[in-house]
Amino acid sequence: MKVRIEEELCISCGLCSQICPDAFAPREDDGIAVVIANERELDSLPCAEEAAESCPTEAIIIE
Ligand code: SF4
Repeated sequence: MKVRIEEELCISCGLCSQICPDAFAPREDDGIAVVIANERELDSLPCAEEAAESCPTEAIIIE
């Protein structure tokens, strides 16, 4: 599964990294979410989809 963050949409709320800490983490300097799992790892992380659905700004794009 390919997942990316639309950085301009991310409001650094931290929700995705709370829901799926193995897939997302806040960037140290500004809290913008980054994807920390590779494509294969994401395939076995259903919480990544849950985080995408929960993102308040729909900044998580599953391709
Ligand atoms: S849930 Fe969405 S807005 Fe919040 S940190 Fe994650 S990507 Fe950014």
